[in-house]
Amino acid sequence: MTQEIDAVLRAAGPIIELAIGEDIGPGDATGEAVLPAGQRLHGLVMVKAAGVIAGLPVMEAVFRRIDPAIEFTPLAADGQEAVPGEVVAEVRGPARSLLAAERTALNFLQRMSGIATLTRQYVDAVSHTQAAILDTRKTAPGFRVLDKYSVRMGGGRNHRDGLYDMILIKDNHIEAAGGISPAIRLARALHPELPIEVEVKNLEELREALRADQPLDRIMLDNMDMETMREAVAITSGRVELEASGGVTLASVGAIAGTGVDCISVGALTHSVRALDVSLEIMGEDSKVPAASSQRQVARVRALKEALGRRLVILGHHYQRDEVIAWADFRGDSYQLARDATQTEAEFIVFCGVHFMAETAAILARPDQRVLMPDPTAGCCLADMAGLADVEEAWAHMDSVLGGAEVQVTPITYINSAAELKAFCGRHGGIVCTSSSAERAIRWALGQRPRIFFFPDQHLGRNTARRLGIALEEVLLWDRHRQLSSEAILGARVVLWPGACNVHQRFLPESIAAVRERFPGIRVLVHPECRMDVVEMADDAGSTSHIIRQVETAPPGTRWAIGTESHLVQRLQAEHPEQQIVSLAGVPPFCRTMSQTTLDNLALVLEALAAGKVIHQVTVEAETARWARVALERMLSV
Ligand code: SF4
Repeated sequence: MTQEIDAVLRAAGPIIELAIGEDIGPGDATGEAVLPAGQRLHGLVMVKAAGVIAGLPVMEAVFRRIDPAIEFTPLAADGQEAVPGEVVAEVRGPARSLLAAERTALNFLQRMSGIATLTRQYVDAVSHTQAAILDTRKTAPGFRVLDKYSVRMGGGRNHRDGLYDMILIKDNHIEAAGGISPAIRLARALHPELPIEVEVKNLEELREALRADQPLDRIMLDNMDMETMREAVAITSGRVELEASGGVTLASVGAIAGTGVDCISVGALTHSVRALDVSLEIMGEDSKVPAASSQRQVARVRALKEALGRRLVILGHHYQRDEVIAWADFRGDSYQLARDATQTEAEFIVFCGVHFMAETAAILARPDQRVLMPDPTAGCCLADMAGLADVEEAWAHMDSVLGGAEVQVTPITYINSAAELKAFCGRHGGIVCTSSSAERAIRWALGQRPRIFFFPDQHLGRNTARRLGIALEEVLLWDRHRQLSSEAILGARVVLWPGACNVHQRFLPESIAAVRERFPGIRVLVHPECRMDVVEMADDAGSTSHIIRQVETAPPGTRWAIGTESHLVQRLQAEHPEQQIVSLAGVPPFCRTMSQTTLDNLALVLEALAAGKVIHQVTVEAETARWARVALERMLSV
């Protein structure tokens, strides 16, 4: 990351000079006239709209270039998601210098964060697939390095940097060379060191490119419709990487990714930038950052917790912020926490986690217990990828193909799913599993019926099936956009729902290769919600409890690269200074919805309880809860 930032700052140097020259020129006429020479100010860089931050080091370079006496303190990292009102940096220094630099510094941060934010939206829209989002050369002149860095901060991948680092053969080149094969031959002869990509407009050209006598690195499917792209994927069958290009929008990118292409290039990431709304709030010199964990708020929560005493139990999932987890009576994984709460005499269970976790606690809670959430809108993107209606539709299709799903398929839902899906499993002879019990659950389920239908996390399902020795040919990924053939369903032992966690999906095989090169001998430990190629490259994979246990029991000095949510990794770093722990990703991914729980909304729920009001209660309808319990009890019995 440091090397990457150094490269960005080197590229930014001349642009910063230009920008300062055009804005300040010989001086800030108003500031020099109105602001007293010795006055100092303190400013907060505040995000006004939700987005992904990129460009804080560049912003710092602008302030420092204007006046080395300005102190710049980043309070967030590039690549991190920020919520409205979040302060991502603070600056202190001479008033004239701060105000002179303000506009130029904000222009860089706003543009770069705008690119990162849009990129993250595209990345999230394809997170149910393996497809990567690529940028293009449609960058602002002079800004290429900054624009491409911002794309990376949003979770996208860079296409070629320019005309010099990759061969991209397009229709004009093909025409001039007299065909695809001659064009590739000519390019390979002059530049054997460069990767080669060929653009094709139809399936005939695709077949020609695949027949070329020189190896190709990638084929670009230019402006093809969905059906043609699907055919192209089938024809290519993994021999060459396929890139979809042309007219990609946020509305269409998910379906394009669903065709099975490997990557999708999106010009809009850098040519249609909408700046992120960020401002510099100027305060008095001695003002402090209004941190959520201010002493006042801490004292308030402490007093409320004491007042509620044993009537209250606070549960904190491992991925919660430090300021929240500090108040948890129990810290752990979702299922264990829900069970812990039932063992207490508490009448109010406040679950600091996401919605499906509070639902699970409500299903297991005693009749005299009520479950609340500090922010009941905190969902889980993985759980949200499988709705009951879609799963029932898939079940009905399997029922008709197999002549009775009830005797042919055992449904398994990962605990990260809505209560309705747990109940679906209860009703249909199925089971719930956690990441640590998935192996036992699948073995049990395959003992009941010849196939399993696993939802919503395809990666946990695939990784566990592999551990059990099930061949990939027997694993079928459900397609929500078209009906799968009877042969495909009949030939499958494991049918996977195409869901994925957009936090764990960010870890890539490249991340493992990079960390191993940087820290020889490091142990790579990942969560099984990561992609199969990542899990298979890692030294070990397991649930969050497994990850914690491995670190706790390792000898001092062990080096770890951990592939899970960043709050947990940071906590392990703080709690185990005797070990060397790094995040597996250059930009550690954090769970946006987990972070919706703050000290403020925790205090709000406790305050209401202390005043005799129950707010933000999470309930599960009685019949749904009854069947969900059946599936959960099966999990305990296997
Ligand atoms: S980390 Fe992934 S699976 Fe866990 S709550 Fe967040 S989105 Fe859901």
